[in-house]
Parts: sequence; structure tokens; C-alpha cells
Amino acid sequence: MTVPAMLRRPAPLVLGAPPEQSEHGAPVVRRGELAAATRDASYLSSPNTRADVQLHAAVVTRRYAVGSGLTGIGAACDPVRILLDEGLIFGARELPKSHCRRPACRALFEAADRQHGDLERMRAYYGLQERHGVDLGLAIRVRHGGRAGTVVDTAGRDLLVRLDGVPQPVRCHVTRAMEYETGAGQWTAVTTVDRGAAPAAAG
Ligand SMILES: [Zn+2]
Repeated sequence: MTVPAMLRRPAPLVLGAPPEQSEHGAPVVRRGELAAATRDASYLSSPNTRADVQLHAAVVTRRYAVGSGLTGIGAACDPVRILLDEGLIFGARELPKSHCRRPACRALFEAADRQHGDLERMRAYYGLQERHGVDLGLAIRVRHGGRAGTVVDTAGRDLLVRLDGVPQPVRCHVTRAMEYETGAGQWTAVTTVDRGAAPAAAG
């Protein structure tokens, strides 16, 4: 069995967090979902404007080969040579414009589509935002049974959580034994959904 693209990579990082806090190749997350951006043409001596309108899936790069070895946001398909424009980062599903088809980018764009569907269903069903102020998504810090970890992927109606120090992710129910970080050092325990008592469960 092949390991899914997300699970071969370091835990995702929220856009805006210092890339130094993550490992090379970690997917970048914007609003709880994978992010994408176009190439940062300002670093190129002769920008190829046609090729550079393409969106690449965004990952942390700590090995950018040009200049002094920048830490920043790079393309999943070539994080050593393609630096992305950090001023123009979108959700990977947000724009219909041309997506890079190279394998590493394509795998993350496909993951983004799948995760978006999963997350939208989980957000609608569990209502964690409305009930607890939790923005359900990738890269959010959680505690599962009291152990801290990071949401690294979705799996249907469940979350895949990489507990700190444990490489193999665990599959977690959204509310069972789960706490979510809703502010720095602030943990919110969530409750299960009582469908019988839900006032807006029509349809
Ligand atoms: Zn690419």
C-alpha cells in the first residue's frame, strides 16, 4: 500500500507561522486547508510570465537553492528551486486557474479536493465553530485522550492526527476524547452532537 501524499510529509504548518517552526516539505495551510501560490518572479533574472501564472501547492522550504538558502514557501514539486509568492497565497481549491501537474503538486491538489469535501461535511455535521469556536481544519493543534498532536489529514468523517513524537498518525473521531486549541495554550473540550436536540437539523 502506498502512503498518501500528506502522510509522507511533515505535519502541515499554518500560513503566517514562521517556517522555521516546521520541517522542509511541510504543506502550508490557509484557513484549515491546503494552500497554493504562483512563483515569486521577483527572484528570477528573466521571469517567464506564461509559466509563472501556474499555481503550485505550497510547502515549507528550508533548502531554497538561490541566494543564501532561504527559508520560505516553495512549490511542492520543486521546493529547492521554485519559491512562491508569499503575498499571494490562496486556498488550493480556491482558484480554477491552471494547477501545476507535476506529481508532488498534483498529489496535494487532489488531497485538497478530498479534504475539502471531508471538512465541509464535518463542519456542517458537528458545528464546532458555532458550538465551541473551533475552526476545524488541517494543522490545528488538538489533544486526543490528553495527548497533544496536529491534524495532518482527513479520512472520511474522521481526522488523522499525528501525536507529538509519534510518526504514525492515529484516526480520531471529531468529538470523542478530543480537545482543540482555540488560542495560545487555550484548550476547548468539545461535546458530541445530539441530533435529537439539534434545532436546525432539518433537511
Ligand atoms: Zn508544482
